[in-house]
Amino acid sequence: MTTPRQFSSCVTYYDPNALPVEAAQAIVREWAMPRAGSSSAEQVKLFDALGRVLAHDVISPIDVPAFDNSAMDGYAFAGGVLTNASETIGLNVAGTALAGRPFAEAPRAGQCVRIMTGALMPPGCDTVVPQELVVRDGDIIRFASSALRAGQNRRLSGEDLARGKPALRAGRVVRASDLGLLASLGIADVAVNKRIKVAFFSTGDELRSVGEPLVPGSLYDSNRYTLFAMLRRLGVETIDLGIVRDDRASLETALRQATEAADVVISSGGVSVGDADFTRDLMNSLGDVAFWKIAMRPGRPLAFGRLWSGPRAGTGESALFFGLPGNPVAVMATFYFIVREALLAMSGAEHQPLVKIRALCGAPMKKRAGRTEFQRGIAKRDDDGVWHVVTTGPQGSGVLSSMSDANCFIVLEHARGDTDIGDEVEIVPFDGLI
Ligand code: AMP
Ligand code: MG
Repeated sequence: MTTPRQFSSCVTYYDPNALPVEAAQAIVREWAMPRAGSSSAEQVKLFDALGRVLAHDVISPIDVPAFDNSAMDGYAFAGGVLTNASETIGLNVAGTALAGRPFAEAPRAGQCVRIMTGALMPPGCDTVVPQELVVRDGDIIRFASSALRAGQNRRLSGEDLARGKPALRAGRVVRASDLGLLASLGIADVAVNKRIKVAFFSTGDELRSVGEPLVPGSLYDSNRYTLFAMLRRLGVETIDLGIVRDDRASLETALRQATEAADVVISSGGVSVGDADFTRDLMNSLGDVAFWKIAMRPGRPLAFGRLWSGPRAGTGESALFFGLPGNPVAVMATFYFIVREALLAMSGAEHQPLVKIRALCGAPMKKRAGRTEFQRGIAKRDDDGVWHVVTTGPQGSGVLSSMSDANCFIVLEHARGDTDIGDEVEIVPFDGLI
């Protein structure tokens, strides 16, 4: 298997000082394997299954609907009478079928049954004429034969979900509709994958935690909060390891502890050029970690690989490691475009590509060819259904308000140069993760 270090140093096509985003994503994808084995699943009640990943296919134990029923409020009858389209049909109303209160007898020739939506089709009936197509006079209804075909307005048993067929597939992240669907099958609990554990911490002597006083030169640690929020939205279990000082011993302790406790370790800060030598040395002793300069902005420096908690690489517990840059916007961009997919894959979730939309630029944007840029955008749809996008303003990678103001990333691809008003670009709407 390709290791990150081999990849970044041996593959001459890629410049390790400017690894294209797609190349980094491909390596991460190869390394992020779902946890295997039956011990990785657990049984949960339906309400607790929201946002979890299904461990197995769910096979429908029943037909849904379980019986043929009416799709409309109207009158049920045997459709065999609809032979001549020029005819007016007259039928006698023999009784009523309500949802949950069936009409048990088959109507005789020339009869029909008043029926409401969802009610069981009476015996011998296969067609429903909607009430708005009918003229009713006492117990007689009349309608044009041309208004419908035999078999219309009847929902067939099993037409939504057929018994014995997979209703939902393994890897499905359970959403609102899925919960309802599982309930419609009468399923009370389902097997879901155990949540993966993600430990995260911030590095930096300048950082203070919320609640502590700021001293000159210090700032509040915001990365742990954005990371926490994004991790929660992905449904993983979070382990907050706080702030780690910029010294080798503290970092080593934090990394070992995190690797012991978690499947994935995410740090922020300490991977830029000035810090890299110090952390690189430590990473080398703890596992197989490569330092990348990804050709992306924000988010250029990033460390990625595998860590081990034992005395040597290859011993003790192991965890996948992402050393994200320190800048708050870079943390969010690298998480969104590099980390997110890996966490979903490790959770056993089916691939969920980010939604991309074409939009027209409302203002020119400076862009250097040879790197992918993720600008923060405000996108609006005009009356003709065309999306237009402008940036949120200053795009410094420390300007967290640019993320709060935005509703999408504007993705300016690797080869692109400056962008003019009216040029087409791709945007990735924030989907709730951010
Ligand atoms: P670094 O990657 O450690 O060189 O950090 C780059 C920039 O991001 C510096 O200005 C740091 O002060 C800032 N930074 C690093 N970590 C955090 C954090 N957890 N919260 C807010 N800003 C941070
Ligand atoms: Mg730092």
